[in-house]
Amino acid sequence: MVLNIKNISKNFGGISALTDVSFSIEEGEIYGLIGPNGAGKTTMFNMITNMFPPTSGEITFLDEQITGLKPYKITNKGICRTFQNIRLFSQMTATENVLVGGHSRSKSGVFSGVFGTKSQRTEEERLRVKAKELLELVGLSEYEETVSENLAYGQQRRLEIARALASDPKLLLLDEPAAGMNESETDELYFLIKKVQERGITTLLIEHDMPLVMKLCDKITVLNFGRKLAEGTPEEIQNNQMVIEAYLGSE
Ligand code: ATP
Repeated sequence: MVLNIKNISKNFGGISALTDVSFSIEEGEIYGLIGPNGAGKTTMFNMITNMFPPTSGEITFLDEQITGLKPYKITNKGICRTFQNIRLFSQMTATENVLVGGHSRSKSGVFSGVFGTKSQRTEEERLRVKAKELLELVGLSEYEETVSENLAYGQQRRLEIARALASDPKLLLLDEPAAGMNESETDELYFLIKKVQERGITTLLIEHDMPLVMKLCDKITVLNFGRKLAEGTPEEIQNNQMVIEAYLGSE
């Protein structure tokens, strides 16, 4: 098991964003987290990465308790995320954005450029080779030196995934990666997430694009008002009457 979410609750003042939610993810799975707006999906990402601590419950990653660990330590253990809104460095090139992702977990830690020690320069070279390879993976080889704000929307979204992958995650958290994408961009995203799976990386996906979720995911948890409404395969979820009434019926 890669991730085990056990009885997680989160209160913000009087709001119960999550109540007693449990689920677990097996290695190599693409796991969907779906539900209506405000159901608590992003809050669950914030619990896993400890942007905020849970009010109660435990999170285990690869058999190790990570509840309460500092966010950078959680990144170092191999969990990386993207955000609902694009958070690229808009004035930096595609390559530079990916390098920042690599440095977030690299041993040298700092952006050493040509002035660093020999081992920092070797590390820099390794990260550059990797950035090139990741840009190829996400279909952006032609845009290595393009300033990210000049990329098309779908390309920026894929660049975010490349940046997240640069930290060598074992678990990738994607928060609505298809939001705002047109059909062909969504198709490209589908193939990209599949390629990520082929590399042995486990993915937890928040997404409102139901055809994409149903096509991609091995398993799905549905949240509703902060509670787990259902869990199962795409087929089970699509046929679950409670899920249809609470969410799918309105899509
Ligand atoms: P969406 O699909 O719209 O992104 P979501 O399922 O990701 O929704 P969350 O963003 O997790 O939902 O929000 C769950 C609930 O928790 C909402 O009522 C939200 O207003 C509340 N909430 C989330 N973060 C905070 C915060 N930092 N402070 C106060 N309330 C919050």
